[in-house]
Amino acid sequence: MPVAWERPRVGSTVTGFGQNACPHLHPPGRGRGYTPPVENGSPNAVETVGLRKVYGEGSTEVRALDDVSLGFPNGEFAAIMGPSGSGKSTLLHILGALDKPTGGRVIVGGTELSGLTDRELTLLRRERMGFVFQFFNLIPTLSAEENVLLPVLISGKKPAKYTKRLDELLDLVGLADRRTHRPDELSGGEQQRVALARALVRFPDIILADEPTGNLDSKTGSEVLDLLKESASRYDQTILMVTHDPRAASTADRAVFLSDGRVVDEARDPNPDDILERIRTLESPG
Ligand code: ADP
Repeated sequence: MPVAWERPRVGSTVTGFGQNACPHLHPPGRGRGYTPPVENGSPNAVETVGLRKVYGEGSTEVRALDDVSLGFPNGEFAAIMGPSGSGKSTLLHILGALDKPTGGRVIVGGTELSGLTDRELTLLRRERMGFVFQFFNLIPTLSAEENVLLPVLISGKKPAKYTKRLDELLDLVGLADRRTHRPDELSGGEQQRVALARALVRFPDIILADEPTGNLDSKTGSEVLDLLKESASRYDQTILMVTHDPRAASTADRAVFLSDGRVVDEARDPNPDDILERIRTLESPG
């Protein structure tokens, strides 16, 4: 497996890729068009303070998140767990600047999101975050490699500058010989690996994954998680993953448990049995 990547540091203006630098391959364009600066040397990739999210009002009001204060240190792989309806997806969407909280603060790499315009939020998502979802969300008419390059096209960068990056990623996810295949010509695991490469193509600081193994058998799921971890440790990326699966969560550095929109528990270096036990406790009535 080729290991030729060197990830640019947050906020840096690195223009090469270290020893194996490819002069044509630019690091993610953190400079151009991206205004929110990293304000301080926060040890946390993402942090929330007193986060609240309320849907509806009056009799239909739902408190999806209630006073959630969490810090996710740079490079951490965190699993977000909890019963259905406990607020996991809501939290992930707010952490990924896909949704706005009703109250409280979200700080990404030292930048408070509430101070950003919608345009700045969009840029922050594009430049700093990669998303992986349960239903791969690939474009059916595009080939595997075209799907991987989609974030590059959307952000107005030249795909030609990402040729080497594309090759490296397709090698990493084991799809070099499937690059011209369309999604319907790929298995579920292969499609999720395309989605993973797509999430990684622009060197995000933070990878947000919503049930990334939810549609995969356990062997394929664990392969996808291994790839996710491989990338994260290579680039010091932070992974925030919502999952129901105790085995998937046990690969994380930390599992955070939500119930009724509140953080109720957490486990470091969790093992599957421990996680299962905690989930059972949360799900049991009373
Ligand atoms: P989880 O991901 O843990 O299953 P969610 O974050 O999806 O939980 O939902 C948390 C709570 O917020 C649930 O009660 C859910 O019904 C509610 N909810 C989520 N999205 C909306 C929405 N768009 N409108 C109203 N209620 C919502």
